[in-house]
Amino acid sequence: MTMEVDILELSERSAKFILSNASAAFANGIRRAALSDVPTLAIDDVNIYNNTSVLFDEQLALRLGLIPLTTDIEEFVPVEECTCGSECPACKVSLTLSAEGPRIVYSGDLVSSDEKVQPADQNIPIIDLKEGQKVVLEAIAHMGYGYTHAKWQAGVACGYKNMPVVKFENCDQCGACVNECPKNIIHLGPNGAEISDDDILKCILCKLCASACEIDAITVSEDEKSFVFTMESDGSYTVQQLIINAGTTIKEKASRLGQILESL
Ligand SMILES: [Zn+2]
Repeated sequence: MTMEVDILELSERSAKFILSNASAAFANGIRRAALSDVPTLAIDDVNIYNNTSVLFDEQLALRLGLIPLTTDIEEFVPVEECTCGSECPACKVSLTLSAEGPRIVYSGDLVSSDEKVQPADQNIPIIDLKEGQKVVLEAIAHMGYGYTHAKWQAGVACGYKNMPVVKFENCDQCGACVNECPKNIIHLGPNGAEISDDDILKCILCKLCASACEIDAITVSEDEKSFVFTMESDGSYTVQQLIINAGTTIKEKASRLGQILESL
């Protein structure tokens, strides 16, 4: 059976979908790739020219590092994989920041040398400068992997659960399960208790319905080949690009393994 994807919700930053006819290993592979193997740009080097704010240089640098930057995966390569040996436009982007108080400095105040590389959100507060306080710096962004540091993690809140399967047989319509379900998804229909196709996605597999049923008419199980996924992107990619990139990473790893095995 071929793998299938049913999109339930899709926006710029988040997606919910059902992946069916797939193995648990593959589902987990996609999740892990989105969290740690899809490279993204993040500030990891800061030259501070002036900092008379209340923050130490290191604290300021840490805050800058955690700002998601929009990334074109075709255009950049991680430094260690770049052919330049040190730093070139393919592995490095410079952003500058120059501000004087009184004012709050936001991520949107960073001026990027590459117009395609911008803070994914313009309104992340960096520091509150008081009268006379100044910050002048150059921030260098490199591409890196989430498994090295969370600042290079493009996927956030990526997870899945197996598709819940709840069966009702010989229901006597007592209604005990309806009252017991913490998600309120069981309803009494003409043929007894039932759950709609939409509502079954909300099931948390707690099995309270089954234990409330005195005649054991309910069986709760999970479909081992079907997964309800939620994925969110930090903004460095759209969630759609993130999932595609995650798939590509797995494909590349598999083909690299193939090459190694062939060369033996
Ligand atoms: Zn380079």
